[in-house]
Amino acid sequence: MVTDAQTEQKEETRQIKLNILLRDFLEIANCQDLVLKDKIEKVLKLANSFLDTDTAVIGEIIGNTYQISYAVSSENNITAGEVFNIHNTFCLRTCQTEGLFTIPDCTTEEYSAMSCREHFKYKSYAGISINVGGKVYGTLHFATHSKKKHFFESANELIKIIAQWVSHEIYKNQNYLTLKNAEAALRLENKDLTRKCQDIQELASFVSHDMKHPLRAINGFLELLEMNLGEDITESAKELIQEALSASDYMDMLLDDLLSYLETDKSGAKTEKIDTNEVIKRVVKQAELRFSGINIKITHDNLPTIYYGAALFERIIANLVDNAVKYCDEDPIKIHISSGRDDDHWIFSVQDNGIGVPESHKTKIFGMFERLQTKEDAEGTGIGLAICRKVVESYGGRIWVEPVNHVDTDENQGSIFKFSVPINSHGYEIRDVT
Ligand code: ADP
Repeated sequence: MVTDAQTEQKEETRQIKLNILLRDFLEIANCQDLVLKDKIEKVLKLANSFLDTDTAVIGEIIGNTYQISYAVSSENNITAGEVFNIHNTFCLRTCQTEGLFTIPDCTTEEYSAMSCREHFKYKSYAGISINVGGKVYGTLHFATHSKKKHFFESANELIKIIAQWVSHEIYKNQNYLTLKNAEAALRLENKDLTRKCQDIQELASFVSHDMKHPLRAINGFLELLEMNLGEDITESAKELIQEALSASDYMDMLLDDLLSYLETDKSGAKTEKIDTNEVIKRVVKQAELRFSGINIKITHDNLPTIYYGAALFERIIANLVDNAVKYCDEDPIKIHISSGRDDDHWIFSVQDNGIGVPESHKTKIFGMFERLQTKEDAEGTGIGLAICRKVVESYGGRIWVEPVNHVDTDENQGSIFKFSVPINSHGYEIRDVT
């Protein structure tokens, strides 16, 4: 007959043992030299000895299966990696139970028919569900093979603590793995991108040397042919040679522009402080020289100082001014350059009184080789705006076109090409327009 005093003393001894075990458990949990698997197995072994069980298992629910993740058993009849039909395990019952689900006697009729009981030959069982990141992960359970056993209050407490710790560690590990996978994917992508960049560089050099060389030869032979025919050349032969020469010139221009698209790159440009008023003055001078004889009036507001690749900024403005002249039938051609700003961008605008861009094409024209005119109507390859877009976007801005709305006539005549420049993307001080 067990007296109250004996029970009390037994409970006291169990508490002392539990405290010692928790201290050891903390030591293992905080050990930096152990990997998660070793930590978990050591903790499960400790718990087995405290609970007087011979088997400790952590299993994961994957679909309709219960897959053993970690197992420590003196019976050696259960190992990590084994997979069971979830309905033949105590897992679902465990997950449905708040707190610990215990079976002091697995040999009773209710459980003895289950195939896992047959397989593992458990005599008693105590399990608890494990939640990881707010979702049911699986269960942690302890079992005996040789004797039936009741699990006491202190056992409950311990199993709950271990389940919480395991859940935390698995969560940490999953996040770590996700991060590692993302890092590996990024590294691969980076490698892929570097390879693609190399391909493009190789293509660029191929285009500039190997393709232009035969083109120059074709031009030379055509000119020789024209010379050789001399006075005998017929009008139609002359026309055909001219056609061939102009097609070859167009191809030369295409190759130049394509090369320019491939090579125009923010990475090679130094970001520097630029007074955009100075850039505009240079572009205006060049346009006046290039289009001498055409009546062009270019005006501009007082513009801000920005941080950008100087040559690239000039290239965008020059391209937009060139287009404004090319796609205008008015006399005079009027171009006005201005700027505005929103919270974190300068917005530059180049307005013209030209033919305008139909609503249906206002996005398309920024793509490669997109042209609304034939090469007879206006010289060009359809790459200029694609280059502008590439540069603008590489600096974190965007480029678009709007129609000019004349309030008095209610007619749209001309376009406003706008592009944005992030104000503080480089962390520099911002200087306002004075
Ligand atoms: P390109 O001028 O060599 O054709 P772009 O890429 O500079 O190539 O322009 C693409 C097309 O967008 C042009 O062919 C033209 O149809 C249209 N476009 C560009 N700028 C203007 C403009 N200011 N006004 C009207 N249409 C324009």
